[in-house]
Amino acid sequence: GRKTSNRKSGSVYNPNMHTYLKETMLSEMNLRRGLDLNEFQLHYQPQVNCRTGEVIGFEALLRWQHPERGLIFPSDFIELAESTGLITPIGEWVIREAVKQISEWNKMGIENVTVSINLSPRHFLHHNLPFFLEQCIQEARIKPQRLVLEITENVAMEEQSAVTSRIKLLKEMGYSVSIDDFGKGYSAFIYLKHFPINEIKIDREFISELGSNMQSIGIVQTIIHLAEMLGLRTIGEGVETKEQWDILKQLGCSQLQGYYFSKPIEVNQINELFHKYGRGGKLLLPSASKVL
Ligand code: C2E
Ligand code: MG
Ligand code: MG
Ligand code: MG
Repeated sequence: GRKTSNRKSGSVYNPNMHTYLKETMLSEMNLRRGLDLNEFQLHYQPQVNCRTGEVIGFEALLRWQHPERGLIFPSDFIELAESTGLITPIGEWVIREAVKQISEWNKMGIENVTVSINLSPRHFLHHNLPFFLEQCIQEARIKPQRLVLEITENVAMEEQSAVTSRIKLLKEMGYSVSIDDFGKGYSAFIYLKHFPINEIKIDREFISELGSNMQSIGIVQTIIHLAEMLGLRTIGEGVETKEQWDILKQLGCSQLQGYYFSKPIEVNQINELFHKYGRGGKLLLPSASKVL
């Protein structure tokens, strides 16, 4: 009766909320449907050579174009994808799509760019990953050297030896392996000690403090020196200002990525940039060329 429902309205759960959750929360079913209906897309963010400003590659970033909710960013669905295991089929979609795009760009005369993709820890250790990659690049006739595989520190430290042998295998196959968000977690240096990676992406947090915080300059300088000694490339993530670029150039960082150069954008916008500013497959973005 009425009394019970009055009392219940003060509690955490009420029947209306149930409908609300059903309608607003992304569910495993939504995700699977999104994948089946091809609602995912990749946006590409340019990565530039730190010395010259020239575009040398792109990071592929996943977006979900939902029919009712519009564009959904990875922060709103990657965790769900990971916990349900859908991250592996989604990751396979990402690989297939990125490889096709590299092949498209090759056909357009854009031949030396790399594409970085983000792999979840679970997918990175999946037994089928090396076979899947091989199959995709053979079908698209591209070289493994064009692909960079990014993993984060979330790759379980308990599975150190599995991760190490997986990295070794993928490197032998010709792929590059990169540690994303380097310095954000606690195990950064253990990574360098154990994992034979090719590249370090310096976490955005350090980059954002470069102009104002001496400690951050020191930390970034140390990471870059260490990387140099180990023969690894460095990418500064989240570069938003010319000042940050200048400091990273002085510190000897290899590559940069960030809103200063470009946000992640759709393929046709990337192609437009090549059309407008490209010369013989090379590309200097307006924000990079005006300061050189
Ligand atoms: P991430 O791999 O570290 O990617 C960089 C994130 O920083 C992207 O956010 C990018 O849009 C953002 N970013 C780039 N430059 C700037 C900048 O100058 N300033 C600021 N404030 N942000 C910048 P996004 O696209 O929302 O992706 C978030 C995270 O989601 C990624 O972080 C990555 O961990 C994950 N992710 C994205 N795509 C995939 C995917 O295909 N698979 C998996 N497993 N994870 C993905
Ligand atoms: Mg990344
Ligand atoms: Mg990152
Ligand atoms: Mg991240």
